[in-house]
Amino acid sequence: MNYRNIPVKKNIALVAHDHKKDDLIAWIQEHEEELKKHHLIATQTTGKKIEEKLGVGVQKVMSGPLGGDQQLGAMIAAGEIHVIIFFWDPMEAQPHDSDVKALLRLGVVWNVPMACCPATADFILKSPYMKEEYQAMQADYNTYLNRKIKD
Ligand code: PGA
Repeated sequence: MNYRNIPVKKNIALVAHDHKKDDLIAWIQEHEEELKKHHLIATQTTGKKIEEKLGVGVQKVMSGPLGGDQQLGAMIAAGEIHVIIFFWDPMEAQPHDSDVKALLRLGVVWNVPMACCPATADFILKSPYMKEEYQAMQADYNTYLNRKIKD
């Protein structure tokens, strides 16, 4: 089995759809001290709101519908995202639903801890692994790649 090292200081991706942004801000406010120990990366509008409300520095990619979800997806595939907090809206279709699905899918492909609601986000943030290194199991996709090459 292969493992990917998740460092003590984690790169945490933060994304919220418009009707979920208040929930994410409230969650971040509640966990501000802990979150400040890590590197925060967010889609554009989510990131701006976080900076506005909390005064913490956030690395921002583009807005989700303009490609931000895909930028985060590329970072996940490159092993640059260690935790995903993604409050997507289950009550409303998004113009970029395909990108949302792709982001959620890549989180699973690369075994990245991912919370889509505040309770799961609480469980992740309170995990002892947030304070230490963690070896995340990594599926061996070589078999898959070799089969593709042979086909
Ligand atoms: P936003 O993008 O932070 O720019 O609103 C999030 C999204 O809708 O995926």
